[in-house]
Amino acid sequence: MKKQTQIINAGRGKKWASNVVNPPVTRASTVVFNSVEEMKHATKNKTNQVMFYGRRGTSTSFAFSEAMTSLEGGAGCALYPSGTAAITNAVLSFVESGDHILMVDTAYEPTRDFCNKMLKKLGVETTYYDPLIGAGIEALIQDNTRIVFLESPGSITMEVQDIPSIAKVAHQHDCIVMLDNTWASPINCQPFELGVDVSIQAATKYVVGHSDVMLGTATATEKYWPTLRENSYIMGQCTSPDDLYLAARGLRTLGVRMAQHEKNAIKVATWLQGRDEVETLLHPAFESCPGHAFFKRDFTGSNGLFSFVLKASNNDAITSLLDGMEHFKMGYSWGGFESLILAVQNVNALRSATTWPYKAALIRLHIGLEDVDDLIADLERGFERLNALL
Ligand SMILES: *Cc1c(COP(=O)(O)O)cnc(C)c1O
Repeated sequence: MKKQTQIINAGRGKKWASNVVNPPVTRASTVVFNSVEEMKHATKNKTNQVMFYGRRGTSTSFAFSEAMTSLEGGAGCALYPSGTAAITNAVLSFVESGDHILMVDTAYEPTRDFCNKMLKKLGVETTYYDPLIGAGIEALIQDNTRIVFLESPGSITMEVQDIPSIAKVAHQHDCIVMLDNTWASPINCQPFELGVDVSIQAATKYVVGHSDVMLGTATATEKYWPTLRENSYIMGQCTSPDDLYLAARGLRTLGVRMAQHEKNAIKVATWLQGRDEVETLLHPAFESCPGHAFFKRDFTGSNGLFSFVLKASNNDAITSLLDGMEHFKMGYSWGGFESLILAVQNVNALRSATTWPYKAALIRLHIGLEDVDDLIADLERGFERLNALL
């Protein structure tokens, strides 16, 4: 089945939706059983198929989890109240005191914080590695290395990783390969075909797509799914059926939204490429982006999120650029229908294994679904404000 058809149908079987189009919101703590036999069956059956107690999920979460598994691949999908909870719980499911993990240097900032604070406290050591290391990761693998964690493209700076090369080496050393696959969403990269063992999504972003729900998912291969599922349950991870309903609703339009985000973003990026203010463009679909060849090989499309580095900037000029934006709102997160802008003036503060070579500020854009000409005009006026203060 083609991806677009899968997006429409995933997790909407009769089992979950009966005779309506969308699986309904099933709110539950207590689930009542009709017989001792039924209660025994539900208690024993720990997969995402039988309702047992609200914390283990209801038909709403089983349906959404099934949808994510069918889109990303793998054997099952655990749901978490945020993308960050998905990352931290997935890692915690597989490490113990004395272990070591390899974390990509361009990881999402809260992921880095988790390693530096929580994992450290638990006696798990982290080594950060260059996102472009490829098979060279082998030199960093120790006897106690348990997980190699990737995020591709990297947060803020967008380096695309050579996932298959890293996965191959990691597997030779019995390490688990985890990927934060949020940028691709469940449709633009098939992590399990590239050797990933656990794929994580901040569904908060494009899956939900409307900036109104926090949600995370972790999908795993047959080999790792039982441990991931069990640990998620042990840690008390569960998600609101109302939020899952909204996420499932978002999922149905993921394909068309992504296609439009991509089209708009490529038009804005192409315009930026021709501007004197721009030092370099960090959009995976453009040659100037480190790892662009891996994007071409491993991804089927891009989206609305990319960055660029200015040739020159100072605090006042950046403030004036940002404060005056009309359509680009200032805010964290991305993946909703609206355009967003963010400036990072000290990229080196976010990394430790590599050195960021640029002096001027980086601007990250999320290109929304507005008319793209209005967005370009907004940026053009922003550059005028920037130039006036340089
Ligand atoms: C936003 C984000 C997360 C965290 O998701 P939350 O739902 O905000 O906790 C993780 N990884 C990446 C790449 C993200 O952009």
